Amino acid sequence: MSSAIAVADTRDGELCAGTGQALAAARLLAGADGSLALLIVAPEPAGLAAAASFEGVERILTVEAGSGTLPSEVVAAAASAARETAAAAIVFAHGPDAMAAAPALAVELGAALVTDVTAIAAGGSGSLLTRSLYGGKVAADLALPAGVPAVVTVRSGSFTPPGEATPPTPEPLAAPDPDPAYEHLGYLEPESGNVDITRAELLVAAGRGIGERENLEQIEAVAAAFGGELAASRPLVDAGWVPASRQVGQSGRTVEPKVYLAFGISGAVQHLAGIRDAGVVIAVNSDPEAPIFRVADYGAVADAVEVAEGLERVRGG
Ligand SMILES: Cc1cc2nc3c(=O)[nH]c(=O)nc-3n(C[C@H](O)[C@H](O)[C@H](O)COP(=O)(O)OP(=O)(O)OC[C@H]3O[C@@H](n4cnc5c(N)ncnc54)[C@H](O)[C@@H]3O)c2cc1C
Repeated sequence: MSSAIAVADTRDGELCAGTGQALAAARLLAGADGSLALLIVAPEPAGLAAAASFEGVERILTVEAGSGTLPSEVVAAAASAARETAAAAIVFAHGPDAMAAAPALAVELGAALVTDVTAIAAGGSGSLLTRSLYGGKVAADLALPAGVPAVVTVRSGSFTPPGEATPPTPEPLAAPDPDPAYEHLGYLEPESGNVDITRAELLVAAGRGIGERENLEQIEAVAAAFGGELAASRPLVDAGWVPASRQVGQSGRTVEPKVYLAFGISGAVQHLAGIRDAGVVIAVNSDPEAPIFRVADYGAVADAVEVAEGLERVRGG
């Protein structure tokens, strides 16, 4: 029987949504008969342990950390929990915090490392883990090596959290020695730009296929004409055309508008990660093979700017 640990995803004294998703993936890796533990490394872990009401968690291990919960503290705590439970897998919610700790933990344990996993098949020993490569153009299935533990990070939204259950009594583990190399000063929230695209009912999104920067005005005009908000794919944000607060996708915002109208967006997996909960998806793309058409409810194989001009004309009467 194998065992797996999910490392709680915490921020500012609260459990984040990634915790349940990491637990769901850890359950798959442990197998139906395997045992599942949740590790909480935080300044006041007892309160978080009391709130960790997830079905199927047999043990909650807690480690008291400093105010910022440094990567070195997480690595030390997870290594000791992994040894204590003989864990075959240690799972994190993918993100900057996980990426600061997971590779070092894999080195510490001599474990395999698989990051940004989107699916797990088979489960238990012989698990196949799916992750994307080459900016989302290829999905790779990776088999975990036998007899070696695995450190895994899982992509947000890819695994359904378990149901609720009364949490087991937490078991405190010894806190690691403080790391003099780091000092946590605090978190800075990104500028919101006064617009919260996660609340918009209609998003009109522009991608690299709009061509020139001046064409953005046309897409903005469509958004304004229909009472929606402008959104964008990452290349337009990287180019400085659109503020980061309007980026949709894995490293941007997850949105759930009633209608998502995408102009010149290819539909890379990192972009699609942000529109999984969108209602109707409408795509305009000149390439009939563009991946966005696989998720679109309606599509037009056409020039993005021409369609945008037409829509604005129609709206204007
Ligand atoms: C770790 C990581 C995180 C990432 N996070 C994000 C993220 O949060 N959000 C995000 O969007 N991306 C993200 N990316 C980048 C992502 O992989 C893609 O590169 C990006 O989404 C592509 O943007 P795009 O569709 O606008 O551009 P492209 O992929 O270049 O696609 C442009 C599309 O426009 C079409 N086109 C060309 N001319 C026209 C025309 N005249 N009319 C209509 N269509 C036309 C083309 O057929 C093509 O499909 C991330 C990548 C990595 C590695």
